[in-house]
Amino acid sequence: MTRFTKIIASIGPESENSDVLTEMIKSGVNVCRLNFSHDTGEIQGAKIDMIRSISEKLGMPVAIIVDIQGPKHRIGNFETEKHYHLKIGQKFILDSDPTPGNENRVQLPDIDVIHSLKIGDNVLLNDGKIQLRVDAVFDDSVETSVIRGDEIWSRRGFNLPDTEINTEILTPKDKADIEYVITKKPDWIAVSFVQRAEDIAFVRDFIAQRTSHPIKIIAKIERPNAVERITDIALAADGIMIARGDLAVELPFEQVPAIARKIIRECRKLNRPVIMATQMLSSMVDSEFPTRAEVSDVANAAYLRVDATMTSEETTIGNNPVNVINTMEKILSFTDADAVANPYDWSRIDNVPENDWSRSISSMAYLNKVSAIVVFARDINSVIQISCRRSDIPIIAVCGESFVANQLCLVRGVFPIFDEYLFGQRDAFNAVRQFGIGIGRLVIVDDDKVSLRTLN
Ligand code: PEP
Repeated sequence: MTRFTKIIASIGPESENSDVLTEMIKSGVNVCRLNFSHDTGEIQGAKIDMIRSISEKLGMPVAIIVDIQGPKHRIGNFETEKHYHLKIGQKFILDSDPTPGNENRVQLPDIDVIHSLKIGDNVLLNDGKIQLRVDAVFDDSVETSVIRGDEIWSRRGFNLPDTEINTEILTPKDKADIEYVITKKPDWIAVSFVQRAEDIAFVRDFIAQRTSHPIKIIAKIERPNAVERITDIALAADGIMIARGDLAVELPFEQVPAIARKIIRECRKLNRPVIMATQMLSSMVDSEFPTRAEVSDVANAAYLRVDATMTSEETTIGNNPVNVINTMEKILSFTDADAVANPYDWSRIDNVPENDWSRSISSMAYLNKVSAIVVFARDINSVIQISCRRSDIPIIAVCGESFVANQLCLVRGVFPIFDEYLFGQRDAFNAVRQFGIGIGRLVIVDDDKVSLRTLN
């Protein structure tokens, strides 16, 4: 039980067949992420069925995150298949005219975006290779100057780092995707391009009106205004993803590690699981080995005590997704074991109050050098709270419902088991034996009753 950091695998064309997925789960995947920017509806639904069936066959709980595309904005079309090279200093118009664009103008199909832009705002295309700055705003268009130039093609996505965009968080496609996918009871839904806590409240309400299944919500932090409002957003959501891809387009890339650290600290204080995402092992799309920098990136995320590290294209379109998972598993296992062997004084950097319930449990476990904390879990909240103290002691969560065990697969240091019998009998000793713990002391948490017991 040395790996505390969970592995989230993005699932795509190279990993969505049963044999590969089975090997990936056996190799360490705790959570599968389905990206609804690509396939949608029943195609994704079939993948959910497949993951559930493999998890059941292996007897290993796996969480499913449905990642909703969100309001990703795109420019309109150019004449025929043409593309243009935008030159530094030239003027370029973004307007609401649907006729094909040219080297001087193109449509921005969403009029709300045009109305949200202000003089001085930046519009970034091609992952920031094109930078346009707004010089003048009109009723249905804006005039920009090209600050950085590159080739521009039809339907490219763009980022607006300086703009509060007044569009609804869910597009018609997102609403249709959620309506369908909630029938498959995913464990977590990740919301893209969140700007404010109200976006999360809107999605929560949208889901609650359609299902009573307690699906948990992850806010993807990829916009500067979301970083500024991280406390409110984290409080409104059930978990946070540090979406470094868009974040490093919308903000200077050198700021992203510091922002990630700040978000991790905030999530720990507020008892929210936090995911480090994007380009963790991306060279492994076509390489057998990770780069040295990637190894450090994954290990440093584990040393920062994130809940999970996530793969992206390396497991969706990469040559060998199973090798990617084995690689991530190896790095995380070694790093987490090192963190346990060389502990930091977690109680001194923990910024929750001394009399906090989960802090007392963690102190008791730490001071008594227990082998595990066993929690009888009706829902995920109390387990997350104990996990967020980061005491580097395994937390065995005995769950009476399978969805609780699945949801907890995302949470750092938590080893969930779904067993109605053990849950009903409150049988902590047999629960830990399933994980090979035969002797030692345990802290047992059962609702508000906490006890210290010796196993021998
Ligand atoms: C990201 O931008 O880092 C991210 C995870 O989002 P997506 O893959 O949906 O673009």
